[in-house]
Amino acid sequence: MNATAEPTADTAAAPPALTNSTFAEIAEVLRQHETFVVLSHVRPDGDALGSQIAMGLALQKLGKKVKVWNEEGLLEKFSFLPGGELVSTPPNEREDFDVVLALDTATRQRLGENCLAAIGSAKVWINIDHHPSNPRYGDLVHIDPIAPATGQILFELLQSQDLPLDEPIAENLFAAISTDTGSFQYPNTTARTFEIAADVLRCGIKVGELSQKLYESYPRRRIELLRVLLDRMSFDADGKVASFSLPSATANELGVIPEDNEGLIDHLRAIQGVIIAIFFEELEGGKVRVSMRSKDERADVCEICLRFKGGGHKLAAGARVPGALEDVANRVIEAACDVVNRLP
Ligand code: AMP
Ligand code: MN
Ligand code: MN
Repeated sequence: MNATAEPTADTAAAPPALTNSTFAEIAEVLRQHETFVVLSHVRPDGDALGSQIAMGLALQKLGKKVKVWNEEGLLEKFSFLPGGELVSTPPNEREDFDVVLALDTATRQRLGENCLAAIGSAKVWINIDHHPSNPRYGDLVHIDPIAPATGQILFELLQSQDLPLDEPIAENLFAAISTDTGSFQYPNTTARTFEIAADVLRCGIKVGELSQKLYESYPRRRIELLRVLLDRMSFDADGKVASFSLPSATANELGVIPEDNEGLIDHLRAIQGVIIAIFFEELEGGKVRVSMRSKDERADVCEICLRFKGGGHKLAAGARVPGALEDVANRVIEAACDVVNRLP
């Protein structure tokens, strides 16, 4: 990482905020400033982009000047989201802002090297997230590890503080919450999540149409990729650990792009007897992206990924590990087997 991607002097010096800023405090900062940049993590998912766009639209409705940057820009598969055109990759020149908002991003570094380098000065950093591993970087911090999605926290913020919440914003929040809860299936889905989903629907969104765009509009190449990955599937620890890996040469041959593989790991998790599912993706630059899912809270994949300098949630976590694909896979699978073999 170059020097410009390091935290700005003012925020680097500040001690981590130990208690959550209230929604009222965050809303006050939003209302009192003029220029904003809304960021989220590299390799964005539906929660990252949905949250970014919802916040960008809300700030625009407040009359603010707002940029929405993501290291990868707007993914093709989320291009239907209303307000999606707000999302761009960061510019090459630095820009100054009153407020930087980091959403759904477990570490500052995961905001992306180019995004971080493009921020000149910033008076306030706001960090809103639901990852328990978040080290609470920034000036105003609101981490709710119980929330199943950052989109759910944003809904509570917008609604409780009488901030803009119209149909396009609601559609983005629904996309965020639906994707991060596995369509309201994962155990982090609470009664409150359903209440919020109901309120979101009352804003006028059409859940059938939206779900079809989210879950039934994949390019054919994604399924071709799944076919190849299933061929490479392997099991360890008596079938409690399932994994497959994607060499970059195979990705190139199939013509797939990074967003195509998101969610394919769910096919491994869905197998009876599997406790930990792992997906390995060979990246440029000698690193491997590790993606992990667990079906048992006692098999904490965040804890495993932290050992490999990653992070995430108990049941869904990841890491970027330097090394050759097969080597990294062996080491990570061994760590996962260790964990499941120690379960009672
Ligand atoms: P993924 O498997 O990429 O969908 O990520 C699963 C979860 O782990 C998400 O909540 C990510 O934010 C988190 N995560 C993935 N990779 C990393 C990483 N390198 N460092 C910290 N958290 C990560
Ligand atoms: Mn995310
Ligand atoms: Mn999330």
